[in-house]
Amino acid sequence: MPLCWLISEEGNHKPIQLPHLQTVVLGRGPETTIKDKKCSRQQVELKAECNKGYVKVKQLGLNPTSVDSVVVGKDSEVKIKPGQHLHIVNQLYPYTVQFKEDPTGSQSGTKRQRESTSEDRESQRDAQSMKTDKQTERISVSVSHADSPKTNLQENAGHWSQGLKTSMQDPKMQVYKDDKVVVIKDKYPKARHHWLVLPWQSIPSLKALRTEHCDLVKHMQKVADQMIQQRPDCSSVQFRTGYHAIPSMSHVHLHVISQDFDSPCLKNKKHWNSFTTDYFIDSKDVIQMLETDGKVTVKEGTSELLKLPLRCHVCRKELPTIPALKEHLKSHF
Ligand code: AMP
Ligand code: ZN
Repeated sequence: MPLCWLISEEGNHKPIQLPHLQTVVLGRGPETTIKDKKCSRQQVELKAECNKGYVKVKQLGLNPTSVDSVVVGKDSEVKIKPGQHLHIVNQLYPYTVQFKEDPTGSQSGTKRQRESTSEDRESQRDAQSMKTDKQTERISVSVSHADSPKTNLQENAGHWSQGLKTSMQDPKMQVYKDDKVVVIKDKYPKARHHWLVLPWQSIPSLKALRTEHCDLVKHMQKVADQMIQQRPDCSSVQFRTGYHAIPSMSHVHLHVISQDFDSPCLKNKKHWNSFTTDYFIDSKDVIQMLETDGKVTVKEGTSELLKLPLRCHVCRKELPTIPALKEHLKSHF
């Protein structure tokens, strides 16, 4: 069976072996050299399945761990395969996994691995008996603001976070396309008009954008402006075009959203704050960052913005609940 290695892409330390079916907990500490207080000492739990060629990643810490820039969510678990990128916390500390044939040809590998066998069976039993509790907990504690249901350990390709890749190929979802981009209706619109502009080119997220993507990002903006001009009703409602600093869904996507926020899909504080605080980065600012820095930088503490009190985006009045906020918005729209 191949051996699994966790590799720091920044070369901060030597590869860490992830023995088959053994739980390895990593975070701030000497093993990773991470000193960042935002990273819990027990930030992620990793479990390699060497025969299957993937590693299960569970986020234990409060701040977001991500795979291909998609947040895992506290107590949730996803799989990572070679070629994908794991960021231990807040889109920082990039890692990849590698599977290499065991040069010794040994089945059980290291001593540590042999010792783990009974422990491992136990943890598998625990996992089995706690399954129902954990599934419930996962739904209620998830930190992600995405709308798709989160189920345990789905294959990454069919994972909810990959949904945009399916939708963008679906002619029923497409409202515009050209040789560079496609526009789809947001499946859970947070306003009367809510579209997503996606490039055909596979770019996982804002973090992957570089200078060479500048023209593409400008084209996405141009198409967004056209969508606004050609909107079906002639209302004078304002629009914003921008990106979520920490997206939930994989494949970079530009939100084109009317500022009425009149939608039953807008249900909670995370939804509201993701569109009305600096969590939402205007497309023009993304273009400017790409032009001046060659990349997009997300400020530290951005994930905290989702927890801010509910505040009207027009008059800044603070409202206690989403229903109160929705009632208040009627006075503006
Ligand atoms: P974010 O990743 O935070 O920038 O937001 C992802 C957006 O995609 C949200 O506005 C969701 O409502 C929307 N969404 C989620 N799943 C799908 C899907 N399968 N097809 C189209 N839109 C989706
Ligand atoms: Zn107001």
